[in-house]
Amino acid sequence: MAVVEFADIHKAFAGQTVIRDLDLHVAEGEWMVLLGPSGCGKSTLLRLLAGLEAVEQGEIRLDGRVVNDLTPQQRNVAMVFQDYALYPNMTVRENLAFPLRMRGMKRARREARIQSVARTLGLEPLLGRRPAALSGGQRQRVAMGRALVRDPAVFLMDEPLSNLDARLRGQIRNEIATLRDRLVTTTLYVTHDQVEAMTLGQRVAVMAGGILQQVDTPMTLYDQPANLFVARFLGSPP
Ligand code: ADP
Ligand code: MG
Repeated sequence: MAVVEFADIHKAFAGQTVIRDLDLHVAEGEWMVLLGPSGCGKSTLLRLLAGLEAVEQGEIRLDGRVVNDLTPQQRNVAMVFQDYALYPNMTVRENLAFPLRMRGMKRARREARIQSVARTLGLEPLLGRRPAALSGGQRQRVAMGRALVRDPAVFLMDEPLSNLDARLRGQIRNEIATLRDRLVTTTLYVTHDQVEAMTLGQRVAVMAGGILQQVDTPMTLYDQPANLFVARFLGSPP
């Protein structure tokens, strides 16, 4: 079953088309990467799904339900941005508890959720620490944990590694690849980096100029690019 469905999506800013005729399905539990050069409309697509922007045309469905007219809070979507924005004066445990407290979840259930997410992301030894005492990679995992702890229908990451230096980027990319296999949450991960996309995507949706070019497994994209743009962008052999 598709958890996320974009159907015939069109989006413009001040008359300038940014996303055109876009159809995309993300299956339950799938880890989909949205790859494309800067300015091609990736963040806009995530923002449409999260309810931070409105579509001109088309339908967005989450778990089969049309969400076009729902507020971000009503959509059960969680997003991690480039700057992790953890609460500096709270421990990791309190950072994870915060979104659950906001929802009025009782302490016992809260603890169970925190334990479950901490186990998946390997955060158990860090629960008592504050963000300042964590490495970049650990902070990244806490930010992911804080998004996942409320069990969203879909997990969105928008270029989470782009503010890191090359060495750390490679390291955290590999960490995320390991975590990916343990996560059950449907994920849409945005990047302009081909290596990141090919490493992390179970399927990769290649976008250029607001148009989806091809959606396939990394291997198929590389071996059978649908057009010259995809071939060049992925560096496929001629
Ligand atoms: P990407 O994330 O792929 O780099 P974006 O989705 O951020 O691309 O942007 C796609 C295009 O839409 C760009 O040309 C950008 O300038 C434009 N755009 C994005 N957000 C807005 C906005 N709020 N108002 C006007 N133009 C925007
Ligand atoms: Mg962007």
